[in-house]
Amino acid sequence: MSNLATTRPFRVAIIGAGPAGVYAADILTKSQEVRDGHLEVSIDLFEAHPAPYGLIRYGVAPDHPRIKGIVGALHKVLDRGDIRFLGNVTYGRDLTLSDFREFYDAVIFSTGAIKDAALQIPGVELEGSFGGADFVSWYDGHPDVPREWPLEAKEIAVLGNGNVALDVARMLSKHADDLLVTEIPDNVYQRLKTSPVTDVHIFGRRGPAQVKFTPLELRELSHSKDVDIVLYPEDFEFDAASDEAVRTNNQIKTMVNTLTNWLAEEPEHAQHPASRRLHLHFLHSPVEITGTDGKVSGITFERMELDGTGRARGTGSFVEYPVQAVSRAIGYFGSELPEVGFDEQRGVIPNEGGRVLDADGTAVPGVYATGWIKRGPVGLIGSTKGDALETIGYLLEDRLNLPKAQHPDEQAIVDLLESRGVEYTTWEGWLALDAHETALGAAFVSDAAPGRKAADDGGTGDGGTGDGGTAASNTAASDPAAEDAAQRAAVIRQRIKVVPREEMVHISRRRS
Ligand SMILES: Cc1cc2nc3c(=O)[nH]c(=O)nc-3n(C[C@H](O)[C@H](O)[C@H](O)COP(=O)(O)OP(=O)(O)OC[C@H]3O[C@@H](n4cnc5c(N)ncnc54)[C@H](O)[C@@H]3O)c2cc1C
Repeated sequence: MSNLATTRPFRVAIIGAGPAGVYAADILTKSQEVRDGHLEVSIDLFEAHPAPYGLIRYGVAPDHPRIKGIVGALHKVLDRGDIRFLGNVTYGRDLTLSDFREFYDAVIFSTGAIKDAALQIPGVELEGSFGGADFVSWYDGHPDVPREWPLEAKEIAVLGNGNVALDVARMLSKHADDLLVTEIPDNVYQRLKTSPVTDVHIFGRRGPAQVKFTPLELRELSHSKDVDIVLYPEDFEFDAASDEAVRTNNQIKTMVNTLTNWLAEEPEHAQHPASRRLHLHFLHSPVEITGTDGKVSGITFERMELDGTGRARGTGSFVEYPVQAVSRAIGYFGSELPEVGFDEQRGVIPNEGGRVLDADGTAVPGVYATGWIKRGPVGLIGSTKGDALETIGYLLEDRLNLPKAQHPDEQAIVDLLESRGVEYTTWEGWLALDAHETALGAAFVSDAAPGRKAADDGGTGDGGTGDGGTAASNTAASDPAAEDAAQRAAVIRQRIKVVPREEMVHISRRRS
């Protein structure tokens, strides 16, 4: 048995309560060493937001209730009571690395990635050109972004061929009523409702066999009601590397099949056109966003061709599309944190398997990283579990040789936060906020205008399945029985997010 185990629990701070942070805490508490009684751990999970769950709450699109269901599993972990949640505490502002070293034996960074990767082309600064991450933060009710978003464009370009581009394009093209069943904040619903958008164009630099989407997310595009998918035969170019990818990679094969099937189906759309279109373009590399009076009015691309290895090269031929807004969704990027190194190329904390490295490449004792800030912003939530497993493995291996905390008492850090006037939130506070938001959603049923919407997402997941209010009203107009049913129908909402930070903190800290 370790000396520490005989004297006091091993104190661990985890910074960032996204999936990576919660998985790391869970894996540590369930480790063999803890189960055998060789190690007693005491874990504090810090989070900059008043609420936990990271990008599941502020990144995953609201019409992905099945993914948001992962929250249920994370909730169970935090609800056990053996991991202390301390929200509304920002590393680097409220607490420094020196503080953490004083109060904990080990610190794990799981701060994720929240910003857009940069795209350096002329015109990127024009009004109407926006980062996908900013738009995602807005529609997901991030507490620190403005509540208003200008949605005035009829034609919008979305740059990128990954799942974030799909999310952004889907949210821009979907009819607002089809999102009403989700947890979207009311200001987001109201704004989307007034959007004049008719055409959203997604542009990728390479071909259909090089997309970075995942099959489920791609297929989901066709679930949006009254939105046609439009493809262009000239973009369907496959080189030797593409053929190889289709042959050897099931995901690519599925997506190429989906895309080619949609291409073949296109003429049907022409007979019953939808009111909105979502265009998928390939082999387009953006070169300039053009503007009129400081506002986006178009975007120019160089047409690309595949070079045989799956990479794209310019053809020297250019094409311009008239658009009034451009969303850059080419990826997320990690943010530099004070007092730890940062890899400017990859947007991660330099590390080896999760052991944080200093400028000389030497492991910093007692400092670790996990999740997107360790590995970079790629991969679904599930992959953060693997990150955590590896990092915790090293932490357990190192634990007997780490510098010991001077103030390991659990109350000491809380006293420090209080002395600094930090309005930290707790797990009980989150439960209160959670209940409040859920009650707002439930109350909406009685507040909804009769017949406005008959909807239920049925818990089926991606894509949402709620019937649009327009569809309900149209049916009702021609059928008295349906009209009666529509009058009695009400919207069932998951929850309505409370978004201003002060209000979240107030509700979380309210003492009954
Ligand atoms: C737009 C978008 C949509 C996505 N959709 C899906 C999907 O549908 N399905 C899926 O499986 N995956 C999806 N993902 C991927 C998934 O969100 C990530 O795999 C996962 O969230 C990464 O986990 P993480 O814990 O490393 O980072 P995060 O989830 O970003 O969590 C990091 C946490 O650290 C906190 N933090 C940051 N800085 C500080 C600080 N200084 N002090 C204290 N706390 C801090 C942040 O507030 C955040 O809560 C999506 C990602 C994005 C960007």
